[in-house]
Amino acid sequence: MRWSQFFIVTSKETPKDATAASHRLMLRTGMVRQLAAGIYSYLPLGFRSLRKVERIVREEMNRAGAIELMMPVLHPIDLWEETGRVAAMGDVLLRLGGPEGDWRSQTVLGPTHEEIITEISRAYLKSYKQLPINLYQIQVKFRGEARPKSGVLRTREFLMKDAYSFHDSVESLDEGYQKMYDAYCRIFARCGLPYAPVEAESGPIGGDASHEFMVLTDAGEDLVALTENKDYAANTERAVCAPLPQDNAEMAAIEEVHTPNQRTIDEVSAFLKTTPSKMIKTLVYLGTPPTTGKKNAPAEPAVFVALVRGDHDANENKLNRAAGKVWTAANGGDGASISLELADEGTIRRLTGADVGFAGPHTLDASGVPYYLIVDQGVAVMRNGATGANKTDYHAANVNPGRDFAIEGPRVVVADIRNVVDGDLSPRGGGSPIRLRKAIEVGHVFKLGTKYSDSMGATYLDRNGKAKPLIMGCYGIGLNRIMASAIEANHDDGGVIWPMSIAPFQALVVALDPREEEVMQTAGRIHDALEAAGVDTLLDDRDERAGFKFKDADLIGFPVRVTVGRKALADGVVEVKLRSSDEIEKLAPDAAIDRVKSLVADAMNALSNG
Ligand code: ATP
Ligand code: MG
Repeated sequence: MRWSQFFIVTSKETPKDATAASHRLMLRTGMVRQLAAGIYSYLPLGFRSLRKVERIVREEMNRAGAIELMMPVLHPIDLWEETGRVAAMGDVLLRLGGPEGDWRSQTVLGPTHEEIITEISRAYLKSYKQLPINLYQIQVKFRGEARPKSGVLRTREFLMKDAYSFHDSVESLDEGYQKMYDAYCRIFARCGLPYAPVEAESGPIGGDASHEFMVLTDAGEDLVALTENKDYAANTERAVCAPLPQDNAEMAAIEEVHTPNQRTIDEVSAFLKTTPSKMIKTLVYLGTPPTTGKKNAPAEPAVFVALVRGDHDANENKLNRAAGKVWTAANGGDGASISLELADEGTIRRLTGADVGFAGPHTLDASGVPYYLIVDQGVAVMRNGATGANKTDYHAANVNPGRDFAIEGPRVVVADIRNVVDGDLSPRGGGSPIRLRKAIEVGHVFKLGTKYSDSMGATYLDRNGKAKPLIMGCYGIGLNRIMASAIEANHDDGGVIWPMSIAPFQALVVALDPREEEVMQTAGRIHDALEAAGVDTLLDDRDERAGFKFKDADLIGFPVRVTVGRKALADGVVEVKLRSSDEIEKLAPDAAIDRVKSLVADAMNALSNG
């Protein structure tokens, strides 16, 4: 392919809002063009890369025994109602709209395909003899992302490979899950991504039922906890740490302190001459417990009070699970997690008798408002903490767990309900320190269990002819995100440094003096020979200055560059250079062809062998 006949539109402009390197570079190289917020066209150069990512994903899915199909983008909303996900997805689920009664008003754009694949499996997977099976597609997804960000890293329309496996036992699911996990490792290695699998929020099954594949970079929106000795890696949404040790300081008497205009943890702790780590944040939530028995009786929201240290943040998932636990301990039921929301001002006033911002655990019973207490492990081991005094403009010092508020009892639970922080110790092995890193989630594998088959009635007949719900796994990869993450991980000030496997072109032959017949002839011959050998090659035949052409070559990031110029050719040589190195090799044209072929082959092998 000749540059002059291809479609390449590089530019020097960098949009102001483009802070992520991949965003900037994909725009500057003209790989993509933004049509609207979170909506991009893939121009020919970018599309070549995306297609290569897709090919790798497809090859590895097929190698792992998954079978490709394609499901529609348009979904009847009824299916989403069956699983209760119209409400759960909220604004992410995009609707076609249209007048009521019209088919459009009953149709949504697929953000993912669990409902659709379950509808298919309910119709066709009827016998244990058909199991296990893994079905996948590579297809566009639509999501009403509130904040599309960082170029193609988070968009409202993107390509996903989504696979769904069906099993007749948990052991079979474990096996299928491991196969996908291994396939994902191969995919990311082949795409040149420095990735780390991390434990992720696991949802209904628990345990190690979910992993995310992360690319560690500051452009990421996720935060992962990694130990220095690499024995533990988890998304901070889920990460746990070793319990904090008991403080054995002498308990002092409670003191009430007038703290006018001191609102934030930092202000109050400075005012009280203490540190945020010696403060107790008292957070008030409302949560609606699952209805028990009484049909259709909407359960009343209950008040939950959570305590975390001043320098810690409550973790939503952990908190919801602890709420389920404490509620179940008091009332019975199935222990499901309860989704908590911060309480309104009225509730807080009724409970604490004070303005918002002055809640404390020690005198909460005074109001008579019933509540459940969830104490973070880090608070349970504290001594002489400072907290709100349940009195406007007052705080209390020397509040002690066990003495001043309960850490045992029918409506109290001590649990890990906080986000881990840098420096916490690993829950595993020797307790190596945890470090937090920003990361991009490029893939997610998930043991679903029977969540969808239960709600949609997808059953098969087991060996004994008994109907059982299908056991499922699901596995997603974002193709556009792979491409952008590869750039995040492989670039320098000059531009992209593409991994050989997903570069739009593997080699660039630059004809420095395209008007010289011999130069063009040699450049053309090298280009043709490389193409014939299966190397994706572009020939820069533009009549431009050398410096200009090299800048473009570096910006786009062709892994190998062959430069053909009049002067060098007079000496019988051309120049071969890798984008990733400054070294230039001078070789005769035929030797250069062989050299490029072996550079490409070596790089491809290195990536395949991960
Ligand atoms: P996130 O937490 O980043 O919003 P998610 O957990 O919602 O992602 P999944 O539903 O697990 O994502 O989707 C599977 C994969 O699809 C993700 O691992 C990611 O690579 C990709 N993906 C998800 N949302 C987007 C998006 N808005 N733009 C581009 N890729 C996406
Ligand atoms: Mg995910």
